[in-house]
Amino acid sequence: NGIPYDPNNIFARILRGEIPSKKLFENEHAFAFHDINPQAPVHVLVIPKGPYVSLADFSANAPAELQAGFWRAVGDVARQLGLEPDGYRILSNAGTNSHQEVPHLHVHIFGGKPLGPMLS
Ligand code: 5GP
Repeated sequence: NGIPYDPNNIFARILRGEIPSKKLFENEHAFAFHDINPQAPVHVLVIPKGPYVSLADFSANAPAELQAGFWRAVGDVARQLGLEPDGYRILSNAGTNSHQEVPHLHVHIFGGKPLGPMLS
């Protein structure tokens, strides 16, 4: 059910501090950093501190406390970046159809300008 977690994916290595990242925020369950190839003036990635490939994997297998801490971090980062009231978008790619590049669950946060319609 789903692809197996690869502990050497690039975000796992960022979590272990083996690869540097521009950290923005961290709590017990989540880590947030700037995307290396930003697609908007604000482009941040929020990842859980745990071995989950996708949101489906996460919701099925992560402890409730980790799930809560991760979603709290997504909102906290949006607030800390001052993205309201102008607005922002969150997006999570999963699997081949979405072109997921890194097989560790991540939520993109985009903001800082009007973003246009979805899927453009
Ligand atoms: P995906 O296509 O999997 O949803 O998005 C992966 C994202 O990770 C891309 O936006 C890409 O720019 C970003 N990314 C890939 N490698 C690195 C890295 O080493 N550091 C950072 N900060 N972002 C990365």
